[in-house]
Amino acid sequence: MNNKAQQKPRSNSRTRSFNPLAAALIIVAASAVVIGYCINVPENARMALIIYVCTMVCATLILAISGWIYKNKKTSVDEKDIIKITENLNTEMIIWSDDFEYVYINKKLRDLLGITADYSDKKEGVWTAFGINTPDPTALSKIVGSNSYESTFRNPSGAFVSIAWSTSQVKKYKKRSVYLSTGFNLTELKKMRVNLANANDFFHSAMELAEIGLVMSTDKKVFRVSPEMVNMLGLKSGTVNINEYRALIHPNDRIQFDGAVRSRDASDIKNIEIRLRSADGNYRWFSHRFKSITSTGNSLPLFGGAVIDVTEEHEKDILIERLAYIDEVTEIANRNKLVVTGQEIYDSCKVLDYSFWIIVLDIDRFHIINDTCGYSNGNYILKNFAHILYKFVTPGGLAARISGDNFALLLRDYGDDEMPTRTVKSIQDEFAKLAVDELASISLTCSAGFSKMPEDGRSFLEVMEHAEFALKSNDGTQSSICGYEPSMHDSIIGDTELEKSLALAIENNELQLYYQPKIDLNTGRIMGVEALIRWIKPDGTVISPDAFVPIAESSHLIGKISEFVLNEGCRQNKLWQKMGYPPIVMSINFASSDFYQTDLKDKVYEALARSALPPQWLEVELTESLALKDIDFAIDQMNRLRELGVKLAMDDFGTGYSSLRYLQILPITLLKLDRSFIIDIEHDNISFEIVAAVIRIAKSKKIETIAEGIENKGQQSILRSAGCDYGQGYLYGKPMPPEKIQELFEQNVRREIDTKR
Ligand code: C2E
Ligand code: MG
Ligand code: MG
Repeated sequence: MNNKAQQKPRSNSRTRSFNPLAAALIIVAASAVVIGYCINVPENARMALIIYVCTMVCATLILAISGWIYKNKKTSVDEKDIIKITENLNTEMIIWSDDFEYVYINKKLRDLLGITADYSDKKEGVWTAFGINTPDPTALSKIVGSNSYESTFRNPSGAFVSIAWSTSQVKKYKKRSVYLSTGFNLTELKKMRVNLANANDFFHSAMELAEIGLVMSTDKKVFRVSPEMVNMLGLKSGTVNINEYRALIHPNDRIQFDGAVRSRDASDIKNIEIRLRSADGNYRWFSHRFKSITSTGNSLPLFGGAVIDVTEEHEKDILIERLAYIDEVTEIANRNKLVVTGQEIYDSCKVLDYSFWIIVLDIDRFHIINDTCGYSNGNYILKNFAHILYKFVTPGGLAARISGDNFALLLRDYGDDEMPTRTVKSIQDEFAKLAVDELASISLTCSAGFSKMPEDGRSFLEVMEHAEFALKSNDGTQSSICGYEPSMHDSIIGDTELEKSLALAIENNELQLYYQPKIDLNTGRIMGVEALIRWIKPDGTVISPDAFVPIAESSHLIGKISEFVLNEGCRQNKLWQKMGYPPIVMSINFASSDFYQTDLKDKVYEALARSALPPQWLEVELTESLALKDIDFAIDQMNRLRELGVKLAMDDFGTGYSSLRYLQILPITLLKLDRSFIIDIEHDNISFEIVAAVIRIAKSKKIETIAEGIENKGQQSILRSAGCDYGQGYLYGKPMPPEKIQELFEQNVRREIDTKR
């Protein structure tokens, strides 16, 4: 403690009930009177009296002085204590008497006033501290009479200081009162208030200048919106419940908004463009730029941002977007839009705990309809299909054309797992109703695959791929609906195992050719066979090519299989010829990787040479999708095979992206009509029309035709009447081992002999 800094209070502040000095003076005065009186008394008595009085006076003086010293000492200790306490208190303090005879200013205030402990004009210090320029008694009464008296003065560096004083009387002595004034420094608080007011002004001006709306929320329930927003949206006040605000948002855009609000605690900036119903009742586009500020000190976390009316920009964007995101034919969203929106929805699903279905739809046999009914009818069907899908879009969802005849529908999931199937069935019903007037003879059907996001994939594209996977997983039947199951991949996982055992099977000669007869529809004669591969396991189980050819195709194994088929087919056919059966055409199937080998011609030539089979008895079957992979190379390769004298057949015609146009350019000798046309040919007019038209065109190009999958006589007679040259199917015989088909050859030979007789 700095004792120098302490000011000694004047004695008038001391607390006394007895004044020894005054008492001593009275005694001295009384003694003087006694002495004066004693002058007239006898000398000896006078002397004794004087001695007595003097002794009394001395005793009284000693008593008074010691009393005074004692009292004085006690009071000093009290004051020191008070001063000690107040001197270093972190608040401004003055102890003062109203006549300013006694003034004590504590260190905090002295520092503020720029005065020292021995500052002489203490009165002036008090006036300054109370902010009184012209001292007058009424000013003092204001200070004393008020609980909080606010003063403002400049400190020595010229800055304004504001203090709120609380004054109470601590002592009244005669006419003098002693007060204790305690200050509360308001300077910083005032500065903050000024800053806040300035900031507010600035904020409002900035908003007016920028003409932007602003929303802000410290909780999840209420938005405080700027006056600009109040005007834009026609709100009643600047405080709006978050649900009321949400109700102004276009139903299709609410999910975006929910996503932004829900992820408000993340520090990144969220930009969303959504439609809000504006004051005039119309929806306008508003760009919302949201950000969160986490709490600091006493402030609450803030979430908010600028809202700008971007309707005009949006209208321009719409034109650009139309070009980028709208499908020209159907006028619904295209694949680009689907991918962008789909990913946005996917992200929202993750944040908001929603789920959405993606349904991928395919119009069954659309390419055929397109080829036979013409492009305008094709487009009519696509447009109407899109229109039907659009009717099933729920808020926040989307209908899009992915490509060709592939469409997608995004639907919000409400926990009903039957919803996709039910929706697809309704779409199928609506679609079938389109088959009227010119399209009356066509059966319009579609198939679908669906999956759910976010659970069915790590991104929107993956979820969509899975829906497409489900769509393709059906066996080609029309009107199929299939939901994605993760177990669908099991078959792929199992493939590696299968590949290993297939490699072993080839080593162990477990592969064998079966033969299916091909019949001349005019004569009923077996004119050829198709060699179809089988895997016969040691236990006698027969595995069909669909189960292992695709796996072989994705590995080097297909090369080995094809080599075997080519050589074995030639060898067997030559053998039959040697056995004396009438010569027939042996058809073999080629996979894509076989066909695109540059030395294919050499390999075929070698097989023919090795077996000594004349080339006209060998036919190579190619699928149209295989030929279309590289049409120029395919044509060259086919021409090279034709040079050898080998026949060429177009297999499964009508299942791929075929177009009758290819018949003009591919050097084929036989067209195989796919089984899917033959199944319905008796009842489905369009199938018959297609088949008849294809046969006519093929004939005009001198291409022979064969129908696959004939199972009954009705189909046989229709095909015969349509001018189809050959037939193949269970009606004549399933694929069978060589010794079995030889029995058919025998019957064939016997029948020919019989008819000749
Ligand atoms: P594909 O070349 O179109 O062969 C015709 C398929 O239709 C055969 O199936 C045959 O059994 C079946 N089929 C024939 N008539 C009828 C019928 O009346 N009704 C029904 N329901 N089906 C009939 P398979 O033998 O199972 O062969 C399936 C596919 O496997 C073949 O279709 C072909 O693409 C492929 N494949 C068969 N063998 C080979 C081969 O050696 N090499 C290659 N690369 N592929 C082969
Ligand atoms: Mg075939
Ligand atoms: Mg076929």
